[in-house]
Order: sequence, then structure tokens, then C-alpha cells
Amino acid sequence: DVTQTKGREFEDFFLKRELLMGIFEKGFEKPSPVQEEAIPIILQNRNVLARAKNGTGKTAAYIIPCLEKTDTSKNHIQVLILIPTRELALQTSAIVKEIGKHMEPPLQCMVTTGGTSLKDDIMRLYNTVHMIVATPGRILDLASKKVADLSKCRTIIMDEADKLLSPEFQPVLEQIIGLCDPNHQICLFSATFPVTVKTFCQKFVEQPYSINLMDELTLRGITQFYAYVEERQKVHCLNTLFSKLEINQSIIFCNSVNRVELLAKKITELGYSCYYIHAKMQQSNRNRVFHEFRNGATRHLVTSDLFTRGIDIQSVNVVINFDFPKNSETYLHRIGRSGRFGHLGLSVNLITANDKDSIRRVEKELGTEIRPIPANIDRSLY
Ligand code: ADP
Ligand code: MG
Repeated sequence: DVTQTKGREFEDFFLKRELLMGIFEKGFEKPSPVQEEAIPIILQNRNVLARAKNGTGKTAAYIIPCLEKTDTSKNHIQVLILIPTRELALQTSAIVKEIGKHMEPPLQCMVTTGGTSLKDDIMRLYNTVHMIVATPGRILDLASKKVADLSKCRTIIMDEADKLLSPEFQPVLEQIIGLCDPNHQICLFSATFPVTVKTFCQKFVEQPYSINLMDELTLRGITQFYAYVEERQKVHCLNTLFSKLEINQSIIFCNSVNRVELLAKKITELGYSCYYIHAKMQQSNRNRVFHEFRNGATRHLVTSDLFTRGIDIQSVNVVINFDFPKNSETYLHRIGRSGRFGHLGLSVNLITANDKDSIRRVEKELGTEIRPIPANIDRSLY
């Protein structure tokens, strides 16, 4: 769900106070999902390939970190935002100016596009410019004439990258990049990534961090079983699953924060390596645990519903609902994966008498089948 955030706040990104003021005055209270993901990564100077639907706040997702990185006490161009059309460039520079209006010394953002006086642009460049919002043809013109000095520009943003990277624009963009600081980062934002963008990335965007908020969750490729148990047998049942299944990594869901902590403790007592993560933990702790789990530090992760997107961790081949979720949407978020990365997987649901109605409802609403767990599970299913 692209409108649902992980609960991060703009304050969590350690932004300059002047910048936070601009963000809040613009009326933004919390970062949108693409902003949550992109802001910290862009701040780390990494290359980014971000894909998210229209209207999800991609513009501020790059403007905010660009403003944070800009040192307005220096007099050179530090950020170049490339935009395919003049109208959009004007609109984007207006947002830059709004969000950056409290920066000190004042931010100098210049917009330059075809169809306007080149002479005016040249005059403007005699004065300080920190950030340029431009269409490709015009900025190449200015930069190759050495009127605009991009040699210290380390952040290149390409918005609407699919349009920007149309075949006729590509050579222009390559030249522009060649005039920037060799030690630069490139961040591409788009709602679609056609082949033209992919080939460009292979050549010019080294190891980009991919953000993809487009994928629909699907249960395709995931075999779903249930085991009928009594509440007090659940831990024992889990232990049996651990010994029978070939688990690469697993995520185990409980329905409350208390139960997450309790279960993690029990799993550890059983002698398995296990982390837990839940909504009452500090964000920095959550990030650390998630990061370490992703890096394979432990085999099992116990969590509450806080943890829904993360399931796209490719090495997770088993998801266990220690507690069956209350509704089918939650079930889909826990078990489902994005279709594009459709790896195989196994989901096992521990079902008590109370869950009987819920499991039928989930099957019906998601049009899927959850079968009783067989004595032996074919290894090729997961
Ligand atoms: P996109 O580029 O993804 O299509 P935009 O950047 O144009 O989306 O943003 C769409 C709308 O959402 C704009 O009106 C923008 O002001 C608003 N918006 C962006 N981020 C936030 C936020 N964090 N909180 C509230 N509104 C936001
Ligand atoms: Mg946009």
C-alpha cells in the first residue's frame, strides 16, 4: 500500500532545522513511503533507482536530501536536477524554493530550459548558483560553453527518467554527466523503467539502490499450509517445523508485541538463532535488526505486523504465522511477495479453534487455498 508508511518522521533523518521548517510549512507532516526509503539513501551519496506510482511524492523524495546536502556557504553548483519538460522544471524549482526558503545563507536555485533567453541564463550564472533545475539541451549548452561549471556537481537527479532517457536525449545526458564531478551520484525517479532506462543504468549508474513501490503483492509461487493446534502446543509445533523444514531464513509472525518478545525468548531457549522486531522498538534498533537479519546474522526473525514489506528478502523461504492474522489484507502482506521477484516459498499457519472462520475467510477473499500440512513436504516447493 503506497499510502501506508512505516511510521518514520521527517525528524528521523537528522535534517537541518531550516529544512525541517520548510517541509512543515509546506504542509508535509510525515514522509510518504518513497520519501522514507529514498531520503536516507540519497543522503548516503548512493545511486538510486526509484520507482513509485504517480502522486506518491517523488519530487520531495529527492528535493529534501538534495537541500540537506547543499552547502549554501559555498558558491558552486552542487546539485543538478534534470527534467524532461520546461513546465515540470518550473514546477520543480518552485518546490525547491518553497522547501528551501529558510536555508542560510539563502539557497540560489536556477531553472534553465529551452525556449528562454540564453543570454539571461548566462547573466544569471555570473552570480552564485547552488542548484540547477534544467532540461537537458539547455544545460548541456551552458555547461559545454563553460558558462555553467558542473565540475563540482556531485548529485545528479533525473526525474521522469523514462521520458528523460528517450533515445534522442540519451547522448545529451551522457555528455552532461561527463561534465559533472567524476565522483557523483545519480538518482533516477520514474513510474516506469523501460529497457532504454535499464541499458542507460547498466552503463552509467553503478550499483544503484533500487526502490520499487509498484509491485502488487501476490501469493503465486507460495505454497500455503495450516496445522491445527491448541494454543499451548504452538511452541512445540514450531519446534517440530524447525526440525523438519529446510529453512534458509524464516519470518515468524505474532499478533502482539508481547507475544513477539515471549516467542523470541522461547525460540532462543530451544537453541535456535533468532531476532525479533516490533513496533514498540526504537526506529534505530529496528533498522539495525532488520539490516542484520537481511545480512543473514540469524536464521529466524519474530515480528508483529510492523514488518510487512521486508518480506521481499530473497533468502526467506519460510513464513510462519504463529498467530493467524485477523484479516486477509494482513495475511497477504505477511505472506505475499511482489510478483516480479516471484521466488518460491512456504507459508505455515498455526490454527486454533478460534481461527477457523478467519482462515476460510482469507481463502475466500484472496481466492487461494491453504491446505493441511502433509507429513512430508516436498523440498522443491520452497
Ligand atoms: P510524484 O512525482 O510521485 O507523481 P509529487 O511529488 O508530484 O508526486 O507529489 C504529489 C503530491 O503529494 C503533491 O501535491 C505534493 O505536494 C504532495 N506530497 C508529497 N509529499 C508529501 C508528504 N510527505 N505529505 C503530504 N503531501 C505530500
Ligand atoms: Mg513526479
